[in-house]
Amino acid sequence: MKKAKDKISIIVPCYNEEESLPIFYKEISKVAKEMNYVDFEFLFINDGSKDRTLSIIKSYAKKDSRVRFISFSRNFGKEAGMYAGLENATGDYVAIMDADMQDPPTMVIQMYKTIQEEGYDCVALYTKSHRDYSLLRKFFTKCWYILIGKISSTKQIPGARDFRLMKRKMVDAILEMKEYNRYSKGIFSFVGFNTKWIDIETGDRVAGKSKFNFFKLFKYALEGILAFSTTPLVVSAFIGLLFCLVAFIAIVFIICKTLIFGDAVSGWPSLACIIIFTSGVQLFFLGVMGMYLSKTYLEVKKRPIYIVRETETDEEPATKEEN
Ligand code: UDP
Ligand code: MG
Repeated sequence: MKKAKDKISIIVPCYNEEESLPIFYKEISKVAKEMNYVDFEFLFINDGSKDRTLSIIKSYAKKDSRVRFISFSRNFGKEAGMYAGLENATGDYVAIMDADMQDPPTMVIQMYKTIQEEGYDCVALYTKSHRDYSLLRKFFTKCWYILIGKISSTKQIPGARDFRLMKRKMVDAILEMKEYNRYSKGIFSFVGFNTKWIDIETGDRVAGKSKFNFFKLFKYALEGILAFSTTPLVVSAFIGLLFCLVAFIAIVFIICKTLIFGDAVSGWPSLACIIIFTSGVQLFFLGVMGMYLSKTYLEVKKRPIYIVRETETDEEPATKEEN
């Protein structure tokens, strides 16, 4: 027997979002009111915020039975937040949204309609222009997509946002991927399913600051490469081989030269340069291997992706009413 109403879970990873949250909650409540033909669950993930984020979420949970929350024991990162959300969401459909409203929550209406009418498993957003981002960030993002497009067999959509609405089947497939080093954009693509991409112009944050500085973004970009491509390892082996070949030719050349012209000690500066260069290349590729090894090391340890400090079920029971 078919259920009367579908349920959509909205996952919102939050890290120091005290300024954005009230605006977000107001907006998503409006969306829910408009979509009165579905049930909603708002699952806020407090990722170790140091401001009033948790108490704001708690105040919503007290008065609104649709609001649930998971509060981490410390900051585990957005990836961990999204995973916790997906693991704990109970909806037939699950959406992931940022609290800063760079992508409008109202898009859920269109996304749900598209899944219903056009038979997709997922509707996701991508952007051609990040108004909010610096030229440097835009440039590196562009280079990264070109690079990953060449070295990974998992397709990455340039400008893909984390904002998406998925069917339960797809969520379950994502949860099957229990890796510790998570790169969700790659995971979403890896699991497949029919995804419709909608182009959207991302706006500015409604409040607060971006939590990703250049260093964090660089780490994230590296994560994407290490998680979805082993090409750097192949490149290291290939360049190693190439150097062996060059060395072999050089040795033959030097032996022949010595036999013909005698042994004159010359060219030590160039020799020193060659030694420095080759040891640099060796160390670089040792580093590349080390990066893969360190990821493997962390996977083998099987550490938890996140640790929960409290949820809405730990709260005092209170009379709840829906807004
Ligand atoms: N976020 C999080 N944990 C973190 C960093 C960010 O849960 O360690 C959340 C943040 O609160 C926001 C979303 O992830 O809801 C996206 O972060 P942000 O807007 O700062 O990133 P940007 O849009 O600049 O890439
Ligand atoms: Mg943002």
